[in-house]
Amino acid sequence: MKYISTRGKKTNTKRFQEVLLKGLADDGGLFVPEALPQFSPEKISELQTLSYAELTYEIIHPFVGDDIPKDVLKTAINDSYAAFNHPAVAPLRQLDTNTWVLELFHGPTLAFKDFALQLLGRLLDYALEENGQRAIVLGATSGDTGAAAIEGCRHSKNLDIFILHPHNRVSDVQRRQMTTVLAQNVHNIAIEGNFDDCQELVKQSFADQSFLPEGLRLVAVNSINWTRIMAQVVYYFYAATRLGAPQKSITFSVPTGNFGDIYAGFIARGMGLPIEKLIVATNQNDILHRFFQNNDYSKKALQQTLSPSMDIMVSSNFERLLFDLHGNEGDTISKLMAQFQQNGQLHVNDKIWQQAKQLFGSYSSDNNSICETIKTLYQQTAYIADPHTATGIRACNELGNATTATVALATAHPVKFSDAITKAGLPVPALPESMSDLLTRTENYRLLGNSLHALKTDICAYIKQY
Ligand SMILES: *Cc1c(COP(=O)(O)O)cnc(C)c1O
Repeated sequence: MKYISTRGKKTNTKRFQEVLLKGLADDGGLFVPEALPQFSPEKISELQTLSYAELTYEIIHPFVGDDIPKDVLKTAINDSYAAFNHPAVAPLRQLDTNTWVLELFHGPTLAFKDFALQLLGRLLDYALEENGQRAIVLGATSGDTGAAAIEGCRHSKNLDIFILHPHNRVSDVQRRQMTTVLAQNVHNIAIEGNFDDCQELVKQSFADQSFLPEGLRLVAVNSINWTRIMAQVVYYFYAATRLGAPQKSITFSVPTGNFGDIYAGFIARGMGLPIEKLIVATNQNDILHRFFQNNDYSKKALQQTLSPSMDIMVSSNFERLLFDLHGNEGDTISKLMAQFQQNGQLHVNDKIWQQAKQLFGSYSSDNNSICETIKTLYQQTAYIADPHTATGIRACNELGNATTATVALATAHPVKFSDAITKAGLPVPALPESMSDLLTRTENYRLLGNSLHALKTDICAYIKQY
């Protein structure tokens, strides 16, 4: 399998390991496979009885090729999903005749990002080991990503991980999921500032890495890393084959911010999985909804919502869809993105927009409708949905049809977002047993001012211990 950049030439191909370690292409584009592996209906039928880990291997080994030995890949997959707290890994729960939720929150940090980051941490570690390198994962988080990245990297021999969070601005549960991991290679840093300040520090550190000792480099594990998308393709196959694919076609409703999770569904469909519709569910940060409704992809001010993990201004993986819609023409995407960079807005031609609308539906929920959905769903089914999941359920209530089985992705455990559950007037569920003592565990983090110099000094001081 070869990869190309969404802003590059088709002849400039990269191998999986390069894509894994680099994250972003040198031309600023995102990596995508040159062509997708194809799964015939016969082959999809054979997937129906596989366990989650077995299925993962079948789906992702074509993307990895011989860049990672089979046994290494199998072990990484098995270890990743053994860390989950449910024997099915991604259980389906039926809500009514035609609607299911796919619970993606049984991983170590109770949100769907564990699916990708458990695997990414392990594959990165392997690639570094093979190249005789070490690296530093550096990221900023307002919640879910940081915890999932830390859990994914805590066992890595060749990685140190530094995660910045805004001091006093993440919830106790979210902070403690990060700061109570006491592994030697895990470094939590609280920054006296907001999330944007943290992101800016990360960006500047990546831009000039000369402060690092010789031979060390930074790697990013944010949602544009292809490996994350790849790992997320699997649960679309898992849910659809349990519900009758390839004989039946399935609709998915996906709470989305950076378009990573739903883009994985788009890839699954491109591989041959019968997906009828992909419903884009956003909160009030609705740039994607505005694109699918009005061909208006334009940047607006950030709004703080009850579903903070979808609070974005631009949707970083959307470029991958644009690339596909424009026939994989890197030059066209380069120009479109340069325009967007300049004007903060982007439109596609009408034919391409119509084509996008055939597959994607979209719906945007505000805070009130999120609470209302949580409450009504509970009254009707006794199911408690987290506020991200609720946007997906709302969208599928509005846009789903009575004849196609629809799966709403449940992206987080409700206990992580208790504010919204309380606002909806419901009792907050208890922490799962594996985490019941989270609020009394020992924490370890360092507090730094909003200063690039302080951050660089901290990183150098702590990696020197090895
Ligand atoms: C990250 C996240 C999302 C959004 O996923 P994208 O890949 O950005 O679309 C939705 N729900 C939860 C709970 C998340 O953590």
